[in-house]
Amino acid sequence: MTLVDTSATPTTATGGPALAQERRLVTAIPGPRSQELMARKAEAVASGVGTTIPVSVVAAGGGVLVDADDNSLIDLGSGIAVTGVGNANPRVVAAVKAQLDAFTHTCFTVAPYENYVAVAEKLNELTPGDHVKRSALFNSGAEAVENAVKIARHFTKKQAVVAFDHAYHGRTNLTMGLTAKNIPYKSGFGPFASEVYRAPLSYPFRDGGLSGAEAAARAITQIEKQVGAENLAAIIIEPIQGEGGFIVPAQGFLPALVEWARANDVVFIADEVQTGFGRTGAWFASEHDGIVPDLVVTAKGIAGGLPLSAVTGRAEIMDSAMAGGLGGTYGGNPLACAAALAAIESYESDGLIERAREIGAVLIGRLNAMRTADPRIGDVRGRGAMVAIELVDPATGAPDAALTNAIAKHAHQNGVVVLTCGTYGNVIRFLPPLTISDELLIEGLGVIAEGLKTA
Ligand SMILES: *Cc1c(COP(=O)(O)O)cnc(C)c1O
Repeated sequence: MTLVDTSATPTTATGGPALAQERRLVTAIPGPRSQELMARKAEAVASGVGTTIPVSVVAAGGGVLVDADDNSLIDLGSGIAVTGVGNANPRVVAAVKAQLDAFTHTCFTVAPYENYVAVAEKLNELTPGDHVKRSALFNSGAEAVENAVKIARHFTKKQAVVAFDHAYHGRTNLTMGLTAKNIPYKSGFGPFASEVYRAPLSYPFRDGGLSGAEAAARAITQIEKQVGAENLAAIIIEPIQGEGGFIVPAQGFLPALVEWARANDVVFIADEVQTGFGRTGAWFASEHDGIVPDLVVTAKGIAGGLPLSAVTGRAEIMDSAMAGGLGGTYGGNPLACAAALAAIESYESDGLIERAREIGAVLIGRLNAMRTADPRIGDVRGRGAMVAIELVDPATGAPDAALTNAIAKHAHQNGVVVLTCGTYGNVIRFLPPLTISDELLIEGLGVIAEGLKTA
């Protein structure tokens, strides 16, 4: 366990000492206080609300989570790509405190306030493309996805929506339908919304090496034969799939889909909920493929941990819905908007997008070295601070979910919070806060390597 370089240690909003940036195990995980909370959780919270690591968090920031037993865990998950700016970013904390002293809520659609508009202006400026844009704010990623589809249907006066294999878009009814994976997201929760169709993805590790153009042609043929452009309102896709396994499509796949959508009056929606806000080393992952989506859906990394989401896109599409057709009681809550403006300021002024690229270089370098030494790592992929390993049986290439779970369990017991994903449950994903130090990151990867060895 190493101590962090103090020059990289963040300070708190008041300038006081920040959390020690170290892995520190005082008890077994979970310790007695965490066990107490987990027992209360079992009695009070619905079982369907699962947890990755059985701890009771009392503080978090930089690159660590501290639990009630005073264990300090290395965070390689960022609360699922949310706390890119850290869990207690000083700018976010100060901005939310100031807003809290002013007012907590009016409902923007009743009596509006400035920071909602300022967030919309920022999103219009930062998302890909220099066309005229509008934004609308919501609370969760799923809610924003639902609204993007609503808007696309209203604008095109068409109904069908195409989502892709391995897609994840949320847990509400429409977004469950858009999501590919049955267990745990869909099984028993139907019936699902109609007019949702699925197309094949580009998955270079598992599709026999189709080029981006070939994979796009395969998807487009299927869409044309099974749905028809004249019925299709929108294509929705994650530029790099998140829950589905951090799948980076082959070069050329996304541009070909965008081109086809544009030629056929189909709205192209990029779900950048997980990939957005610097995570991949660019503001948005669409930039790596040089695509300009018609609508961009954002959430997770947008507001330093406060609940906020958005749909941003072409003014003519966004403006097609009638007044009152979009909104919600809490959408664009002033505390969340204050947090978003401060988080965006932090991404910009604290060099966090550059930092995502540096983190990516460390991750890719170390994980590739591990892969060379151990063929059970079938693939290392990702961009910026969104990187994953896919674990397989080296003889057959078959997904190895048992090994994946064993490594994750080893990590959790040894003070490293890491998440798995993938349709086959055989992907370990790395999504550290962009405020983590190299020392902590490397130490965390060392624990993963140890887990791989002992599994
Ligand atoms: C997490 C996620 C969602 C859903 O966001 P919630 O805020 O959990 O509703 C949608 N799309 C993608 C790509 C996600 O990663």
